[in-house]
Amino acid sequence: MNPAACDDSDLLVKIKWLMFFRIFFTIFLLGSTIIVQYGQQLNSMYPPLLFLYGIIAGVFMLSIGYAAQISRVVSLLRFAYLQISLDTVIVSLIIFATGCYSSIFSFLYLLVIVYSSLMIFRRGSLYIAALSSIQYGIMLDLEYFGILKSFAHVRSLQSGDISQVMYKIVITMVACFMVSLLSSLLAEQARASRSKLQAMEAHVRRVERLAYMGEMAAGLAHEIKNPLASLTGSIQMLQEEIHCDAGEEKLMRIVLREADRLNAIVTDFLIFAKPPSGNILQIDVAQALTEVMELFQHDTARCRQVHMVADLIPDAYIAIDPTHFHQIIWNLLLNAVEAMPGGGDIHIKMRHMSNGDVEISASDSGHGISAEHIHQIFNPFFTTKPGGTGLGLSIVHRLLESYGGRLDVKSDMNSGTAMTLTFPKNAGKSIT
Ligand code: ADP
Ligand code: MG
Repeated sequence: MNPAACDDSDLLVKIKWLMFFRIFFTIFLLGSTIIVQYGQQLNSMYPPLLFLYGIIAGVFMLSIGYAAQISRVVSLLRFAYLQISLDTVIVSLIIFATGCYSSIFSFLYLLVIVYSSLMIFRRGSLYIAALSSIQYGIMLDLEYFGILKSFAHVRSLQSGDISQVMYKIVITMVACFMVSLLSSLLAEQARASRSKLQAMEAHVRRVERLAYMGEMAAGLAHEIKNPLASLTGSIQMLQEEIHCDAGEEKLMRIVLREADRLNAIVTDFLIFAKPPSGNILQIDVAQALTEVMELFQHDTARCRQVHMVADLIPDAYIAIDPTHFHQIIWNLLLNAVEAMPGGGDIHIKMRHMSNGDVEISASDSGHGISAEHIHQIFNPFFTTKPGGTGLGLSIVHRLLESYGGRLDVKSDMNSGTAMTLTFPKNAGKSIT
């Protein structure tokens, strides 16, 4: 999901909750004012009461206005800023109505700052803290200088009260900023952990989907193999039994060649998607390498102009399924040969590391890998070859990973490529 959209829908929910609580608070204020009015037998024309009823009516009207506008606002963030800023004004009016300096309602600023932290985070809540402090400071100063007179029946401030007034203003300001910093810190932390959780959930969902698709694709690939074998067999029989002219012969060869290619892709894909579980044995690396190289040289017509040299060392053992070892080396040799269409050299080197790991490197004098491609060569289906499957190195990587091994690549567009495999001493964790 788009994070901005996610933030917006989140803010919308918070704004709606705020509107609900504002109405709830106003009803509560109305109720308590009525109780005070009747409890103290006050005349409803008593100015502070009238003023409070005016504020309550104003908040109800504002709430109706907010509700009417909420579906039309362009920027929810600005809407939230507007509502919360007006809330500080409402709080100031309540404080004014209940005795300015003597009012017990200055704590309402802190409430506004706390929910501003949840909605508009640190910057917004600092802005609200500043707005509240300024309003409170101005109100108390104006009261002190006699410009503002609260309706409430309280002792008016004397000139000697300046230190108390300042003290109250400073304490309220400090409280506003401290609450703002603390609550926004907590809100930011909650936001960070929630977005981390959302990212993790999205990752898990993606992995699950991929795993499911992988299973499906592997199943499909498996199903393709049988009809493909029948197809190839039938064409081969037709080729032997029917006398075809040169054109038809060519078409049949194309069908066979493409069927072979399809078969290679499907086989590679199946190994990549679900490597057969390993039958792990201790193998003599030098001996296994010699066997693969011999088979490779016999099997591949392309090896004719390729010169292969091997520096092998005896008595190096690793625990691995011999078929997997064969597959890994074969894929590297095949890539090396394919990178040298005009022929060249392949150099196989072995090294026994001091920690017991075994390193095998295969260097060729081929065309090398460009800087643009080198980061992609392990991606499944990445290929630069017309008939390539792009699965050779992915299989190597996948198999090596399951044995705790590593594959490093060094390539130079002028001098060729070196692939270095490292098999850990204790390789042999079975593939699952
Ligand atoms: P494929 O051989 O089917 O293309 P691979 O996964 O084996 O798939 O290789 C992916 C790509 O990596 C190749 O297409 C090629 O561009 C590059 N590559 C791999 N090995 C070598 C090499 N020894 N020299 C040059 N390029 C290489
Ligand atoms: Mg390959």
